[in-house]
Amino acid sequence: MHNETILVVEDEDQIARVLKGAFEEAGYEVFRAATLAEGRSMAATRAPALIILDLGLPDGDGCELIRTVRSYSSSPVIVLSARGDESSKIMALDLGADDYMSKPFGLEELQARVRAHLRRQSVSAPREPGADTAVFSFGDVTVNLADGIVKKAGEEVHLTKLEFRLLAALIAGRGKVLTQRHLLQTVWGAAYVEHPHYLRLYMARLRSKLEVNPADPVFFITETGVGYRLKV
Ligand code: CA
Repeated sequence: MHNETILVVEDEDQIARVLKGAFEEAGYEVFRAATLAEGRSMAATRAPALIILDLGLPDGDGCELIRTVRSYSSSPVIVLSARGDESSKIMALDLGADDYMSKPFGLEELQARVRAHLRRQSVSAPREPGADTAVFSFGDVTVNLADGIVKKAGEEVHLTKLEFRLLAALIAGRGKVLTQRHLLQTVWGAAYVEHPHYLRLYMARLRSKLEVNPADPVFFITETGVGYRLKV
């Protein structure tokens, strides 16, 4: 039993029931809200460790909840979006959602992502003074964010300044889906948000330098039509 609290904001009773049952069985405490207004109030009063949020709610867009919640909480938000709801999904991620699943979704996949986000949250939450947070590694790659040195299998890999900034942005949001807009804005600046080809080019360079097989990446994952995720 971990007693972590999950808030499910979903107006469809059947989906809400399935989610509540599955996560309670897995040992979580689950609250369900059926409307945006209920979701807002429960997010504030129950302090959930994670929120599963349907975007199409009867009294408004789930994106509104993200806006509110992000002003006071960093709890992971996983968005459930209907097919064809691309723009809402991307807006939700830009507003600070961490992940998304398109309906219909697999319950096991959702459960795995919930575990991964809660784990990441618990690892990154306590900032102990003196803890060595500057060195980050995945696979056989080691990234020292303080001195900018990147090594693969012990050998130093040269990255350009922009390649390193992109890598640092991906590391900062590791495990989350990061939108093209977010990455372009963070790495290149606000003037570049309409230029996704820069991003494609630099992602390809990071893959060729850091992946074992750049054609079949396992760390630098493309989220088609949305953005990228550093899967670690
Ligand atoms: Ca709905």
